[in-house]
Amino acid sequence: MTISPSASIDQNAPGLRIGLFGGTFDPPHVGHLVTAVNVMHALKLDQVILMVANVPWQKEGSRAITPVQDRFAMVEAAVAAVPGLVVGDTEIHTGGPSYTVDTLRSLRLQNPEYVNATFFTIVGDDAAAGVPTWERFQELTELTRLVVVDRPGAPVALSTDIDWIRVEVPRLDVSSTDLRSRFTDGRPLDYLITQPVLGVIRERSLYSLPIGAQA
Ligand code: ATP
Ligand code: MG
Repeated sequence: MTISPSASIDQNAPGLRIGLFGGTFDPPHVGHLVTAVNVMHALKLDQVILMVANVPWQKEGSRAITPVQDRFAMVEAAVAAVPGLVVGDTEIHTGGPSYTVDTLRSLRLQNPEYVNATFFTIVGDDAAAGVPTWERFQELTELTRLVVVDRPGAPVALSTDIDWIRVEVPRLDVSSTDLRSRFTDGRPLDYLITQPVLGVIRERSLYSLPIGAQA
């Protein structure tokens, strides 16, 4: 694995430096936000797009996924007050399963400001382990640099065929899976999820939040 970002990135390349951070975001939590802002800072990115997966093909069939418009509204609320972070709807507009390689192509085609951009696709190490199985993987590596951040837990073996950029971010043991079970069993959500996201969850009665709950 290649480690040093400064050695592997031409910081003087022309065009914007755009982070693409895809996810199901069911719901978005502080682990996502801390990762996005820290990668943005470390790699001097102009913007990080939190791209909401339309149909997360890796997760299809394994559980009920919250409707995409609700997940989009939660991510929109999560990034609203954070400079540099934006929510992406490309995969929602494309429809069908969400493949990062198609998303990168669409972003470039649909936004004149991205024509000369350098893309940095950001993944947690759990997702990074599966990157070589992603749709049209070779083409993907021609369209984007791949950035990996560690999540708490056992180290994950990553493909040595990829010139990874590794960024150290605070390791927060927070996951959407844990949050969904917290909604169900009533354990505290405080500090794991931001207030604007909780506002959307309340408004839309997501995750069967009990009526009158203080979340
Ligand atoms: P779930 O438990 O439902 O899989 P999740 O918390 O893993 O949810 P995803 O939407 O699956 O969230 O993840 C989107 C991206 O964010 C993935 O690349 C994942 O590795 C990364 N990610 C999620 N949580 C963290 C975290 N706490 N720290 C760093 N990266 C994270
Ligand atoms: Mg996940």
